[in-house]
Amino acid sequence: MYDLAILGGGPAGVASGVYAARKQLKTVFITETIGGQSMDSVEIQNWIGTKAISGLDLAKSFEAHLRAYASNVVDIKLGTRVTKLEKKGGAFSIIAGEQYEARAVLVATGGVRRKLKAIGAAEFENKGLTYCASCDGPLFAGQDTVVVGGGNAGFETAAQLLAYAKSVTLLHRSAEFSKADALTVETVLKHPNMKALTNTRPIEIKGSGFVSSVVVENTQTKEKSEIPSAGVFVEIGMLPSTDFAKGTLELDEFDRVVTNPKNQRTSVEGIWAAGDCTDELYHQNNIAAGDGVKALEDIYFWIKAH
Ligand SMILES: Cc1cc2nc3c(=O)[nH]c(=O)nc-3n(C[C@H](O)[C@H](O)[C@H](O)COP(=O)(O)OP(=O)(O)OC[C@H]3O[C@@H](n4cnc5c(N)ncnc54)[C@H](O)[C@@H]3O)c2cc1C
Repeated sequence: MYDLAILGGGPAGVASGVYAARKQLKTVFITETIGGQSMDSVEIQNWIGTKAISGLDLAKSFEAHLRAYASNVVDIKLGTRVTKLEKKGGAFSIIAGEQYEARAVLVATGGVRRKLKAIGAAEFENKGLTYCASCDGPLFAGQDTVVVGGGNAGFETAAQLLAYAKSVTLLHRSAEFSKADALTVETVLKHPNMKALTNTRPIEIKGSGFVSSVVVENTQTKEKSEIPSAGVFVEIGMLPSTDFAKGTLELDEFDRVVTNPKNQRTSVEGIWAAGDCTDELYHQNNIAAGDGVKALEDIYFWIKAH
């Protein structure tokens, strides 16, 4: 029986793993990979304390940091996928190939960005097509850009880009912006360099080595047109990795774990969640790590009191 099971090896999981080691909590750390979503990033410029680092180097530094303190306190099970988490007596059972038992659990399994399905989208990923505006936006200063997605994330991305891009064209597949806050939509659309196309979907990303245009189709008339653009920012949602917790934890309409932002507690006493798998509003490495640390502080006192 472990004191704690940490599920997931992104910034949320690793930050909490380091804290668990230092607090001497007997922990099983179960994850498929160590590093998290930004492992794909060529250059991360906003990991605090580090001017610039590639996603792969960040992943290496996460693993080195965790292993430096893990000793015989944190038992790392790398390359292992969790398939079930449930309550068992006064503790929890985690199925990940084998069965593990722990008194407390931290779910930090993050998620994956919903990928754009358009011709050329995979080919141009990280060559002008990106899933992270705050990471890559500044690279497109003075250039024409396209944002795919008319929800809050799409409008927030457009607002960020308007600070430096020459133009922003937002593509939205429906007629109304019903998924975004009305005030945000109104404010963003007022900007002189902003344009939004409703009933429009991207069907092809074109370029030569790097993105140069987006072919779009009107979803009503099927009419096609081409928009010159150096950058394509995709904001069409996240798919949280929470399947194993269905039926055990309260999830929101998007399958994200509902958490108390004060302490990262979930609907089940003894289970915490941190990072992108939660209903946290913002998705960044620093936020995920901070959530993981916050959870661990609370877990420590909870374990000592039970
Ligand atoms: C392309 C890209 C670039 C980005 N660049 C930046 C950036 O420059 N700066 C920034 O701050 N943010 C960036 N982000 C966002 C940032 O990566 C995320 O907010 C952050 O990684 C979330 O961390 P997390 O620990 O919550 O989850 P994740 O990073 O998603 O990590 C989840 C971990 O859980 C593991 N896992 C998942 N499911 C299971 C399971 N069932 N069993 C076992 N293990 C599992 C995964 O292997 C992974 O280790 C970027 C995101 C993307 C997609």
